[in-house]
Amino acid sequence: MRSVDFHIHLYPPEIIRDAESISRLEPYFDALTHNRVHKWATVEDLLARMERDDVERAVVGGFAFQDLGLCRICNDYIIDAVEKYPDKLSGLCLVPPLARGAEAEVFRCAEAGLLGVGELFPEGQNIDIADRDQTWRLAGILHEANLCVLWHTAEPVGHAYVGKGNVGPKEAAAFCMNHPEVKTIFAHLGGGLWLYELMPEMRLYLRNARYDLAALPWLYEPAVLRTIESAGVAHKFLMGTDFPILDSSRYERIFAASGAAPEVLERIARGNGLEFLASLGRNGRGVQY
Ligand SMILES: [Zn+2]
Repeated sequence: MRSVDFHIHLYPPEIIRDAESISRLEPYFDALTHNRVHKWATVEDLLARMERDDVERAVVGGFAFQDLGLCRICNDYIIDAVEKYPDKLSGLCLVPPLARGAEAEVFRCAEAGLLGVGELFPEGQNIDIADRDQTWRLAGILHEANLCVLWHTAEPVGHAYVGKGNVGPKEAAAFCMNHPEVKTIFAHLGGGLWLYELMPEMRLYLRNARYDLAALPWLYEPAVLRTIESAGVAHKFLMGTDFPILDSSRYERIFAASGAAPEVLERIARGNGLEFLASLGRNGRGVQY
């Protein structure tokens, strides 16, 4: 299944090398890198996997640290990767959104060709995405530079897992109600927010919202894709694996078992992503295909 993968974490070699000392300063990084599902990946690992899994384009980001300096190390690595492989990679940058200097860092990365910010971890980075006082500055930058934001979100119900966090559909909806103009992707199916697109007023507020499928194999039964199709929101879904902790194979099995129409699945796997990417970036040009 040819795909455009919107949810990937890459780690610069120096972050992997210094992971133990960084873990002592960054509790969220510590939790997410010390558990049985964690895996490291560099650009080279991703390129090999793209070849194997028939990934046409990958949207890559680093890890959302609390420290801006660590984010900057990730951003430099992503900028470098995207410059080296413009035909295969698009990039997102990371900042702790409330830190001094965050704004300048996002603009620096946008100038260097990155197309958004994320995956941001609201709980890990101590930002309340439902509080306009905490989000307006970031929203302004995103709007001004025509960037997207990818927020980590999760289900408010169901089993617990490392990194699940406490930000779900309610908080995600509040972000869009405060900033409906911002092109926003909610990771992990938005914790179920897409269902509320069936409420007419929410469909308006969520008009620039997208949802990625990251970690789907661990969260839902395949029928969720058929349900998304019948809810009329499949055009808002982006393929995202959460590589390196997952790759394409399990998603392919879920797609095959979902009972959704092949053209809808193709759109989720690839078409929606290409279209969304083309709407981002400098002068609204984004990536041309
Ligand atoms: Zn996530």
